[in-house]
Amino acid sequence: MERSYFEPYKTKMTEPLYLSSGAEREEWIRRAKYNLFNLRSHQVMIDLLTDSGTGAMSDRQWAAIMTGDESYAGSSSYEHLKETIREITGFDYFLPTHQGRAAENVLFSVLVKSGDIVPGNSHFDTTKGHIEFRKARAVDCSVDEAFEIDSDFPFKGNVDLAKLEKILKENPSSKIPMVIMTLTCNTTGGQPVSMENLRAVSHLARKYGVRLFIDGARFAENAWFIRTREPGYEKTPVRDIVREMFGYADGMTMSSKKDGLVNIGGFIGFREEELFRLATTFNIMFEGFITYGGMAGRDMNALSVGLKESTTLEYLEARTRQVALLGEMISQYGIPVIRPYGGHAIFVDALRFLPHVPREEFPAQTLAVELYLEAGVRGVEIGALMADRDPVTRKNRFPALETVRLAVPRRVYSDNHMRAVAEGLKQVWDRRDTIRHGMRIVREAPILRHFTVELVRVTKKEP
Ligand SMILES: *Cc1c(COP(=O)(O)O)cnc(C)c1O
Repeated sequence: MERSYFEPYKTKMTEPLYLSSGAEREEWIRRAKYNLFNLRSHQVMIDLLTDSGTGAMSDRQWAAIMTGDESYAGSSSYEHLKETIREITGFDYFLPTHQGRAAENVLFSVLVKSGDIVPGNSHFDTTKGHIEFRKARAVDCSVDEAFEIDSDFPFKGNVDLAKLEKILKENPSSKIPMVIMTLTCNTTGGQPVSMENLRAVSHLARKYGVRLFIDGARFAENAWFIRTREPGYEKTPVRDIVREMFGYADGMTMSSKKDGLVNIGGFIGFREEELFRLATTFNIMFEGFITYGGMAGRDMNALSVGLKESTTLEYLEARTRQVALLGEMISQYGIPVIRPYGGHAIFVDALRFLPHVPREEFPAQTLAVELYLEAGVRGVEIGALMADRDPVTRKNRFPALETVRLAVPRRVYSDNHMRAVAEGLKQVWDRRDTIRHGMRIVREAPILRHFTVELVRVTKKEP
């Protein structure tokens, strides 16, 4: 008899959930102006807004917190983290930062200037923001499959080498400070990059004299997908895959709130001492002294343990299995989701879910609100609201994908929670034909409007 799967950990501490009624949620979401970011945490039963900084730490991590060294300079927690980062990634030099976007800010302060071009697979929003803030351009060279919902291509995070080479060929290397590969690619659905592609991108970058950096927020999940999907890696230890991945790059930025398994933190890894020295000045200005850079000693300690835990087979199996289970349970009801399932989230296709809701009335936001009302589950709209208006014409932009993202926090929820999410979605699915109207904006900010936007329901016009 084949034994059932079980998680390689047990629970030592619990946090109660407030079990709300539909009537309460109706009132709360109205007061939140139909913006899920405005809800208080107790108004949400299962929170799949993000997997960033929302994970549960292990008892080893909490124990490491108690032995943090809070010295301003020369902290042993820094030395320990430096050793761990070298061991896991192979980068000899590193700077701690308070989170991932801070790592981008410091690194780009050294390397990116006005008029530059930074190609890669689909850049994460803060990465793109920090590039565009410097009047440089982020060029998306993702493979076409990345934007095809039904394609089962296993490495939708890959770069199209022809698109990348065109950019490298047509521009002087002095205008291209780096190529950035995001592992896994969050923007296109938590999709992995293959080792073969990473190797080829690295060769291309070197051929044209351009540095390659990895945005490694979910590097461990990427390594898992290489092991399970790429021929030749079936038996390779996760840590060896991780070392090989980073071995193709000149450095990395990291949001430790993801695969660092901590609630706050980030870092930059460098191969070159000279670049590390240049970045150090900016780190001291923006983040803090070299040996803490915006992190407490205790948090650096927890990160050292977290990086080791996230690069084990047992952890990664539990993690990716649960996300895939959610995807499977939702798919079983015939609900359209992006495939293959991402490493950290499931993306529900709102255009096919709510075909009667016009795009001008934000179908994904409408679906996210309906799911909240139905089951107290908070997802997030990744669609026209988030895509904002065109900066020149001020017209709404309608991106190719209009989805609700259900991001699964690490080690927080059980499979039963996942089942409740899928069932809640099924109940909305069953009454989808009655949902014919969406949302209308009543107030919005000029940039990044989705965080603070205020909406009302569009009510049916009288005939
Ligand atoms: C979260 C994230 C970032 C930014 O990190 P923060 O810690 O949120 O500042 C950068 N890149 C990717 C791919 C991310 O997922």
